[in-house]
Amino acid sequence: MTDIWEETLNWKPSPQQQAQFQSLYELIIEANRQLNLTRITNPEDFWEKHLWDSLRGIKFLISAEAQEGQEISMIDLGTGAGFPGIPVAIAVNNCTVHLVDSTRKKINFIDNILPQLNLNNVKATTCRAEEIGRDSQHREMYDIALIRAVGSASACAEYTLPLLKQGGLAVVYRGNWTEEETITIKNAVQQLGGAIKSIEQFNTPLTHGDRHCLYLRKIRSTPGKFPRAVGVPTQRPL
Ligand code: SAH
Repeated sequence: MTDIWEETLNWKPSPQQQAQFQSLYELIIEANRQLNLTRITNPEDFWEKHLWDSLRGIKFLISAEAQEGQEISMIDLGTGAGFPGIPVAIAVNNCTVHLVDSTRKKINFIDNILPQLNLNNVKATTCRAEEIGRDSQHREMYDIALIRAVGSASACAEYTLPLLKQGGLAVVYRGNWTEEETITIKNAVQQLGGAIKSIEQFNTPLTHGDRHCLYLRKIRSTPGKFPRAVGVPTQRPL
């Protein structure tokens, strides 16, 4: 897939990064027999829908120049088997990634594989996004918050924005996206101290699936009442 990485992300994984991707695939397939981690198991699907998709969202961090600056602190909420956070931690040298999921068995799986992947810039915690967003050790501490396939877009905004420093960026990975959804989410983002920076549309390189990434900039401190209690962001979306 080297050519496609170069064409689409202007990036070439090193032999070490390729070996890490290969190990990640094997470890997930192996564990999938007991744990229900992913339905995506075919190698090409895994490459496209897990690896490529994870990195496309942070394309702006992948180029060689972007990797020279200060260390970037990231958090991935509802990471599941580690997406998009683990591929990002493999591809971006100067970052630390905190993986969060409410399901203990998924975080246990991640804790088990981190040493085998040789990743020492990753930490994993079992926690709800609504809780970590209220924890003073995490609130307003991150440069970038990633979130893929976790609830509605407005819930994603409520989970991510409280955790960002001012000036920080939330990357919300979506499939389809409509103009109406932009209008609905605008109000939620504003209440949370953010602004929509951009919305990018693209297609996956092998099967041409429709994808969107929303980039939300934190421009003001998030009011203390957010995130609301566990379950409320999905039950009563902003
Ligand atoms: N991001 C991964 C997994 C998506 S599945 C991927 O794209 O492949 C959604 C995951 O979010 C599940 O693992 C679920 O346990 C977790 N999740 C759902 N709501 C959550 C919440 N409020 N806080 C933390 N994790 C949550």
